[in-house]
Amino acid sequence: MVGLPRKKFYITTAIPYVNAAPHIGFALELVQTDVIARWYKLLDEDVFLTTGADENSLKNVQAAEKAGITTQQLCDKNAALFRELATKINLSFNSFLRSSSKKDHWTGVQKLWELCKKSGDIYKKKYRGLYCIGCETFYTESELDNGLCPEHKKKPEIVEEENYFFRLSKYQKKLEKLIESDELKIFPKSRKNEVLSFIKSGLEDFSVSRSVKRAKGWGVPVPDDGSQIIYVWFDALNIYQTAIGFGTDEKKYKKLWPADLHVIGKGIIRFHAVYWPAILLSAGLKLPRSLLVHGYITVDGQKMSKFLGNVVDPLELMRRYSVDAVRYFLTKEIHVFDDGDFSEKSLINRINGELVADLGNLVYRVLSLTEKFKGKIEGKRELDKKLNLKKIEELMGEYKLNEALEEIWGFVRATNKYVNENEPWKLQGKELSNVLYNLLEACRIISILISAFLPETSEKINKQLGVKAGKLKDCKFGKFTGEINKGEYLFKKIE
Ligand SMILES: [Zn+2]
Repeated sequence: MVGLPRKKFYITTAIPYVNAAPHIGFALELVQTDVIARWYKLLDEDVFLTTGADENSLKNVQAAEKAGITTQQLCDKNAALFRELATKINLSFNSFLRSSSKKDHWTGVQKLWELCKKSGDIYKKKYRGLYCIGCETFYTESELDNGLCPEHKKKPEIVEEENYFFRLSKYQKKLEKLIESDELKIFPKSRKNEVLSFIKSGLEDFSVSRSVKRAKGWGVPVPDDGSQIIYVWFDALNIYQTAIGFGTDEKKYKKLWPADLHVIGKGIIRFHAVYWPAILLSAGLKLPRSLLVHGYITVDGQKMSKFLGNVVDPLELMRRYSVDAVRYFLTKEIHVFDDGDFSEKSLINRINGELVADLGNLVYRVLSLTEKFKGKIEGKRELDKKLNLKKIEELMGEYKLNEALEEIWGFVRATNKYVNENEPWKLQGKELSNVLYNLLEACRIISILISAFLPETSEKINKQLGVKAGKLKDCKFGKFTGEINKGEYLFKKIE
């Protein structure tokens, strides 16, 4: 495809509240997002990845009060932890934007507000409702679970004040059509159906501001009304745009918007599949192309909670094992669209079984055999039949990361089997050269395929094979041109 302009792919993680340190559930989302981003890079697309911190939330104000520090101090401390996690887990982000940034974010939020106001979709009214601070959203009685928030199992508080409202009801039919037709595509289909039935049940206008008093003065002010602060979701969703220049760098914004994929957890689907596209429609802006909705992680079969003391710190986990071991576990063990379970035991099983025994041993064996061989490496393609690249591409196209990884591992296992069947340690000359050729090319291709999932491991393999990092188009058996530098084992067995 030489000469054609590269396609752009704009992908985002959700923008998390920073009222507490990140746990493994958010690490899962970072890894899923990163695997997809790196996969599109393998396809030679221009990828831009945004993540950040949602700081203008009442939750943060409350957490700071509890800790006896200012909200700014709390946000600074926790945003740094989120950034550290993103960096350590090798999230290949281009932007980490904090919603407290007046310079880069607030201008765009107020611009979005003005655009919706111009369309006549923002109006003031007196309201009384049930508000869950945990969700930062109003609930109707019928949405509650025995009077409790379905997400937090907490009693919402009664809020009564005059606020600005957004005319969501006006967009019901349009949203229905957009989602029905996959113009805004939702993965998986079960979530699409869930959103559609929510829309069809009738959309009510929602509050997009709160009084300065209730917000404790924290957040983005409503333009021309000093008594009101913009609703945190109206503000936070817009990070997806401000991170690429909305309100500050129109040229960059035009190049990258709309988002090609928002990766989110199942708890915030309504904000992304209903509120967000409606706000953008009102503002006359383009809509994101798709949403990927992932499930939650339990720990040893139980919901993570401070009360149970089973909150898993992903930073600690990566220190104890390795970044790629954690990335491997999260993509292989957890089915993207379902809930999954974390346990240290299954992490160790995956490390010892799949990373050490399957991949680590394979590369080490191949390198050891090649090192001893003094002839020229050449041969006939034999192992290539075991690689189903098309299937891997299809699975990745549907974001079935765990199944794609399983398919890649099928090739790793087939390559191991090829070693055992051919017993190269008994061969010499042309026959040995032929087997080594097939094994080296297989390892080179495995390294490309796993690079989206295990970037550090892939880099190590490339170094040991003496080859450059490849793209997906290089995943075919050609001539092996590397120069071997046998290094250490890729993974250490956990005793
Ligand atoms: Zn809640």
